[in-house]
Amino acid sequence: MKLYEYMAKELVARYGVPVPRGRMATAPEEAASVCRELGPVVVKAQVLAGGRGRAGGVQFAATPEEAAARAARLLGSQVRGLPVDRVYVEERLTIERELYLGFAVDASLRRPLLIASAVGGMGIEEVPERDIVREPVSVSWGLQLHQAREVARRLGLRGEPARSFADMALACYRAFAELDAEILELNPLAVVQGRLVAADARLTVDDDALFRQEGLPRVREGTPLEEEVRSLGLSYVELGGDIAVMANGAGITMATLDVLEHLGGRPMNFLDVGGGAAAESMARALEILVRTGPRVVLVNIFGGITRCDDVARAILQAREAVGTDVPLVIRLTGTNEEEAVALLRSAGLAAYRSMEEAARAAVATAVGAGEGGRGADPR
Ligand code: GDP
Ligand code: MN
Repeated sequence: MKLYEYMAKELVARYGVPVPRGRMATAPEEAASVCRELGPVVVKAQVLAGGRGRAGGVQFAATPEEAAARAARLLGSQVRGLPVDRVYVEERLTIERELYLGFAVDASLRRPLLIASAVGGMGIEEVPERDIVREPVSVSWGLQLHQAREVARRLGLRGEPARSFADMALACYRAFAELDAEILELNPLAVVQGRLVAADARLTVDDDALFRQEGLPRVREGTPLEEEVRSLGLSYVELGGDIAVMANGAGITMATLDVLEHLGGRPMNFLDVGGGAAAESMARALEILVRTGPRVVLVNIFGGITRCDDVARAILQAREAVGTDVPLVIRLTGTNEEEAVALLRSAGLAAYRSMEEAARAAVATAVGAGEGGRGADPR
């Protein structure tokens, strides 16, 4: 789960990381009143993506009127393709220098990794690899003071800034570990009058740890339908084309999307019912997909423990239950595949045992529908 910047800042502040004073606002008047209280401010779009600065999502305002105007422009707009429904208004800092400090879980090292750079801010992507300091952290011992000091030294920091950086890194690591974070990033970590302040914060918490992170706010990351389908335990992602995809397992799902793209098709969304899914949950998934209004639904199922003929029967039942005329193209492979394909074909459905044939049929159906094959498309 990704948290908004203002949430991440409030959390790291509890661990002793200095952050600018600020407040979240959902209306221009609120932004104005924060500015009245704090003086010149930065108005920052709260979206669950980085790179807001370059996308115009970070704006300066010197007066309450300006703050209201900036907030009015951002609220209701999109930044990095995401709708802005709240802004964070915080005191404007006079930044002397921008550093980078982050922690992430390194899967191959199987450890948390401290990542730091003496040059941070919006240009972090362009910093050459050799200028980035990486320090693995022991899960048992946590980040040690001597490690943090050594990182500061490698960044070229001396004296007070070096001490301040080491304290900051220790505080951040405590937050990272205690909050079950996957990523905690302060970029820029700003130098203001010789002291370090987190001018931006990004925090992603491990979904599998949310059960024990009851104190954390819950953030809705997807569209309402994505959230609804995910709450059923299915992975569902909207993409934007016209072919709905259902498959069972991450590998077969990604392969299906690749084959469709390869053949010139445009997936509209995908729903992965998971490797061990029973026929009933596949039927449920199919109903959901049909309601998203695609030109065609492509179903690609490997039937092992769940037999293909059971899947075929569930599909037929689901289709009947929804009463849809959205074309279905079904690929079934595995146990009892011949019987399953015969069953679907005798019901008049396009059924195949090969993924490529099915994908071709789905693309052809989508194109045909687009060219008026299904008549005037109401969408
Ligand atoms: P991001 O682009 O989504 O990472 O958003 P940031 O919060 O990092 O803001 C982008 C850039 O705006 C930063 O790299 C800073 O250079 C600048 N910025 C953000 N807050 C302040 C501030 O309070 N004062 C000043 N002078 N610059 C800021
Ligand atoms: Mn940033």
